[in-house]
Amino acid sequence: EQDSKAVMYEAHRLVAKLYHHVLTSTPYGQAALRYVEKRGLSRQIIDEFQIGFAPDSWDFTTHFLKKRGFEPQEMVEAGLLAQNDNGRIFDRFRGRIMFPIQDSQGEVIGFGGRATENIQPKYLNSPETSLFNKSRTVFNLHRSRTHIRKRNQAILFEGYMDVISTWQAGIKNGIATLGTAFTEQHARVIRRNAEQVILCYDGDNAGQEATAKALGILQQVGCTVRIAPLPQGIDPDDFIKKYGADAFSQKVILQAMPVTQFRLKHLRGKRVLHDKHDEAKYIQEALEVITQLSSPIERDMYERQLADEFTVPLETIKAEARQVHKNKQ
Ligand code: ATP
Ligand code: MN
Ligand code: MN
Ligand code: MN
Repeated sequence: EQDSKAVMYEAHRLVAKLYHHVLTSTPYGQAALRYVEKRGLSRQIIDEFQIGFAPDSWDFTTHFLKKRGFEPQEMVEAGLLAQNDNGRIFDRFRGRIMFPIQDSQGEVIGFGGRATENIQPKYLNSPETSLFNKSRTVFNLHRSRTHIRKRNQAILFEGYMDVISTWQAGIKNGIATLGTAFTEQHARVIRRNAEQVILCYDGDNAGQEATAKALGILQQVGCTVRIAPLPQGIDPDDFIKKYGADAFSQKVILQAMPVTQFRLKHLRGKRVLHDKHDEAKYIQEALEVITQLSSPIERDMYERQLADEFTVPLETIKAEARQVHKNKQ
């Protein structure tokens, strides 16, 4: 068991090095390198994240591993190779840009592979293995940990491209999960390193729904959460490409809002308020969020905001809040 893990670590280490070499120093990687550069990644960041390329071949990696004395069946278990129903073993990753995924010690335990063209799936990640537990693994934690601890703050992104792109822009406390839903285990790992978390998911519906879920989990483990606003249809990587790194810090990260403000905005975004009836219904829902706040000052501020927004007397809002609160008990 220990032995087989050591072998898997070694195989991952070597394959990461191989793919990086293919991307940066061989003709097989030329087109992929152009793609990565077109996406704005510098040579330095390609080296730092050891980004690579798996050639479009069924047996390139298989041959490499065999030559190095690795047992093919074991490499299937490690997730580096795959096997069909007939028992045939072949390269799992073919024609993909490869992003090594490291554990908190910096050991490579898996890969994310991105297609360079419009091939589905866009991303293919390593499967769960005895090295790679997806509900626990946090991308970039080993690089960002000292920054996260020093600032007592982590920024959680949706994708590893966002982490890499913001890292290049000088933001060193970015992390991401890996193609699975955010779990309590992820939250605990983060909480061990920082109290504050800025959620910076994609500015689309999926991102907003995922934000609503993750923030509850983070609060449960004792994190103070704020939510960074992104324009509709844009993710952090897109934002930096479009508006630059300074704008990202000023207009996104520094504008991160408290949970209640996000919840109200989220609620509001899901509703179309056609008439007074819809507005009254929304005010009630908003008050259900607001009345849960333990601080009377905060409750008062959000109630005033609601009163202003719908030009309803504050007294009426407060009366309604008492009603909502009573119905909850
Ligand atoms: P890009 O900018 O290259 O399109 P992205 O980071 O914006 O990539 P998203 O589509 O926003 O990618 O997905 C975010 C994350 O979700 C990815 O980093 C990946 O971990 C995960 N993911 C997306 N699609 C898949 C998939 N088909 N299978 C597994 N994981 C996926
Ligand atoms: Mn997305
Ligand atoms: Mn995205
Ligand atoms: Mn993107």
